[in-house]
Amino acid sequence: MLNKVVIGNQKMNMTATQTRKFLNAFVPEVEHINCRVGICVPYTSLAICKRALKDTNVMFGAQNVSEFERGAYTGEVSSEMLADIGCKLTLVGHSERRKLFSEHNSQINNKIKQNLRYNITSILCIGESKRERTQGLTQNVICKQLDECLSGLYENELENIIVAYEPVWAIGTGQTATSKQIEEAVSFIREEIARLYTDKASKNIIVLYGGSVKPDNAKNFINIKNLNGFLVGGVSLDAKAFSELIQIYSGKSNKKK
Ligand code: PEP
Repeated sequence: MLNKVVIGNQKMNMTATQTRKFLNAFVPEVEHINCRVGICVPYTSLAICKRALKDTNVMFGAQNVSEFERGAYTGEVSSEMLADIGCKLTLVGHSERRKLFSEHNSQINNKIKQNLRYNITSILCIGESKRERTQGLTQNVICKQLDECLSGLYENELENIIVAYEPVWAIGTGQTATSKQIEEAVSFIREEIARLYTDKASKNIIVLYGGSVKPDNAKNFINIKNLNGFLVGGVSLDAKAFSELIQIYSGKSNKKK
């Protein structure tokens, strides 16, 4: 696995037709880049991604998954269904799902376990609210989220986990965390993984930052210690801006050699 990873979260924005147009513009721009690239789309765009991203370096994923395996859960989409369509990634525990749909850590833990059964990588979103940061609770929040969301997982299963540190107050607000705040959170996350597992697990796990990352500010985050990349919301809707961000971060031209 390459060390640099950038994943887009397009939220509930693109129709399948819009996804096709987006991919036509986006994929050629990131084809020869030194960075793992992924895009999390609405369920209705997954089939388009499967077709359009075949034989490319761009991974695709869903933005959510059921905590249940199958059965009478109207409206849910299971890990098995996602795996069957070639989906290798899903977000789990995004703050919008926690806040708007009351998702809690034990459900997120179940979702991760379902994903593991079908070899899907879970991008586990964690992070504190503004109030929690102001009250000095950032580390407590991160610690509880990691403990409960990863409960019962074996060390080898962390290969299928990406942690995205997304302070809630930075998501979609235009207000990014500072490099120092990100560095502190990332190093705390790695300490926690070492406490729960081993130093090796802590070193190997992929940790991303998400919260108002744009081409204009991406270079501020390039040198953050132990950070592997970004989870990108708003900017991932714009093929030009998103590919520019990835090019800046990867530090490589996208031109064929
Ligand atoms: C997100 O929704 O995960 C996110 C990081 O959004 P934005 O980049 O728009 O802040």
